[in-house]
Amino acid sequence: MTIARHQHWIGGMEANSTSGEYFTDLNPIDDSPYAEIAKGVQPDIERAVETAHACFDSYRQSLPKERQGWLLQAAELLQAESSDFIDTLVDEVGSPLLKAKREIETSVSILRSAAGATHHLAGKTLPTDVPGRLSMSIRRPLGVIAGITPFNVPLIKNIKHSAMPLATGNTVVLLPSEHAPVTALKVAKLFADAGFPKGSFNVVTGFGTELGDTLTCHPHVRMVGFTGSSRVGHHISALCGKHAKRYSLELGGKNPLVVLKDADIDQAVQGSVVGSFLYQGQICMASSRIYVEQPVYDEFLTKFLVATQHLGMGDLRSPSTMIGPIIHERQRKRIKEHIQDATMKGAKVLCGGNWQQNYCQPTILTDINDQMRISREETFGPVTTLHAVGSADDALKLANDSNHGLSASIYTTNLTQAMRFAEHLEAGMVHINGTTIQDEPHIPFGGVGDSGFGRESTDPDLSDFTEWKWVTFQHS
Ligand code: NAD
Repeated sequence: MTIARHQHWIGGMEANSTSGEYFTDLNPIDDSPYAEIAKGVQPDIERAVETAHACFDSYRQSLPKERQGWLLQAAELLQAESSDFIDTLVDEVGSPLLKAKREIETSVSILRSAAGATHHLAGKTLPTDVPGRLSMSIRRPLGVIAGITPFNVPLIKNIKHSAMPLATGNTVVLLPSEHAPVTALKVAKLFADAGFPKGSFNVVTGFGTELGDTLTCHPHVRMVGFTGSSRVGHHISALCGKHAKRYSLELGGKNPLVVLKDADIDQAVQGSVVGSFLYQGQICMASSRIYVEQPVYDEFLTKFLVATQHLGMGDLRSPSTMIGPIIHERQRKRIKEHIQDATMKGAKVLCGGNWQQNYCQPTILTDINDQMRISREETFGPVTTLHAVGSADDALKLANDSNHGLSASIYTTNLTQAMRFAEHLEAGMVHINGTTIQDEPHIPFGGVGDSGFGRESTDPDLSDFTEWKWVTFQHS
């Protein structure tokens, strides 16, 4: 079977790589070739940034209603072409149907929210102590914004890292994950079909390790929006600090889910299953540590085990499948090492732990101690750890014992406890009686500590992607 060959997207059209080389994008189900992708080199990044920079002069002058129209049209087209996008999300990154559909819905919402934001770039009139002066502030777009995105929710993240920059009058260069370039190129085509001017949105495909620094450090790049691992995030923040650039980081998690003795156990089990195993645990907000108060531990464990063992695994296009394949060999190795390291150090496997080709069975581990890698590092697979705790105070202390702080959940019917946890959990997002995996376009999405810096959302983005200018008018 011949597979499709894809080029970069620069200046509103396909653009060959300077290197003339290609790499193979694999289908994670069986590592068969999915597509041939242009292997970007530094001159390609320079070409894309120069193109976005040249476009910025005219794009910044586009009217809010024009940008609003393009974003709304992109939302319409995405909905109309959803089955095509779903196919790509299934075949390129191993998304079960359920997760692929959620990506489409969320992305449509993000585009619509960004469209609404185009008329909210308001400035202010300011008081002044100078007689005869009118003082005001206006907001200006920054210029070229770089977006660097991960493999796991490629549609959502490519749309998030471009919709608000474009809504606020900036132009974009996107460097997508080398494991999800086709999704990004489809977004480029979507934006072009929606009417965005040539050069306003550009995609360079290739390897972040080879291209990332050139993009981050390019003098015309005014801000870097990064979503990915904490390790790469720290590297990017150091470079941005050195070059005095703005940046935002959406990084990994080690998200706690707490079940108190007065919780609705069925609700908590449902939240734990979705939180731990949606998209085979390859979600930054995955519930990877579950703390259950002793009096309800046995009941929770029995129900959680049954629900986990009934999860569908395999056919990605079946609506009942929750567990698909793990994206690539490096990631599979990490999951295997975490399970092996934990069991060698005394952890008990309650269920799962075995592999069928590239699929890891949903796995629950208990008897976890601090020496195990899984207690602190993000596993990014269908593996969660279960802990019995003596009290709500113990649960809070353990939940906060992590360098990460992205999302957290508390299941309880006690309002006072719920609000105490909401206030004291060290996380950017806390959900009471809801799972750790939640997203909406207008909420302040992000984490603390090793989980990130800055917030994604329409409101914070209005500030992040613009700069204030103070203007005075001496009228008398
Ligand atoms: P990754 O860090 O390996 O890669 C992310 C992106 O960074 C890719 O495009 C990659 O090519 C690029 N990259 C690699 N080295 C780079 C460098 N030196 N400079 C610039 N870019 C470079 O992450 P991944 O495996 O694709 O995704 C999984 C990670 O992303 C997990 O840690 C997950 O928690 C995190 N994530 C976070 C969020 C969030 O919103 N907080 C959302 C999704 C994923």
